[in-house]
Amino acid sequence: MKHDDLATWIAQLHPQVYHRLHYRWRKAEYRPSTESLAMLNHLAISGPLTVTEAAQHFDRAQSAMSELIDRLYGGAAPDTCQSCGRSINDGTYCQYCVDESGRLQAFSERFERMVLWSLKQEPDIERSEAEKRTRDYMRTMPAWKDHPELNA
Ligand SMILES: [Zn+2]
Repeated sequence: MKHDDLATWIAQLHPQVYHRLHYRWRKAEYRPSTESLAMLNHLAISGPLTVTEAAQHFDRAQSAMSELIDRLYGGAAPDTCQSCGRSINDGTYCQYCVDESGRLQAFSERFERMVLWSLKQEPDIERSEAEKRTRDYMRTMPAWKDHPELNA
């Protein structure tokens, strides 16, 4: 390769590589967790795996593995609550997300409960941080992702 060609080639390649390394997430975009990213990196190297193979490969229980995979495919699988992501045997929502008549709770009620739950899990975080995390989480849930309060 001649000197000039090489320089041109590097000049073209550099922005492409830079872009890959400095990819920015859009604000409301779903971000894979560190765990999901690690898994994707592994899968990129190993190629397609069945759930059983993947469970062996990642040294995880098969149930944990299929949950991780469900999450990678964009949130809730059919057997998870469409509001909070909890595993359920049937139906659309879990017992915690509905009122006495089985209807999905109002956004404000569900939001408040999830914030409180989040604060209970991690007592050290500020309420504002818990609210932010709850909003980010609810944006990944089919029942809430298009809710006006989350897209304000
Ligand atoms: Zn639920």
